[in-house]
Amino acid sequence: MANGWAPDGAVQDQIEDSLKDAVIAARARMPKGEGLNECEECGDLIPEGRRRALPGARTCVACQSLRDRQVAHSAINRRGSKDSQLR
Ligand SMILES: [Zn+2]
Repeated sequence: MANGWAPDGAVQDQIEDSLKDAVIAARARMPKGEGLNECEECGDLIPEGRRRALPGARTCVACQSLRDRQVAHSAINRRGSKDSQLR
């Protein structure tokens, strides 16, 4: 790398932060492993069409879109503003 003037630690911290966020977001969005017949959030039956399209699906459409919204929310409000968001 050609950034001899930048403190290595700071750059590395930034990379790890965005990597962690990306991993968390990807995990929440793309279910891994076996899917469920019933939503793990509300217990509703997951439609067969959804299970076929998304073999690892563990939630119904409503709960998944709720999760997606939460992921987008937490990605926008980064660490600095988290406390004020919760209060
Ligand atoms: Zn549900």
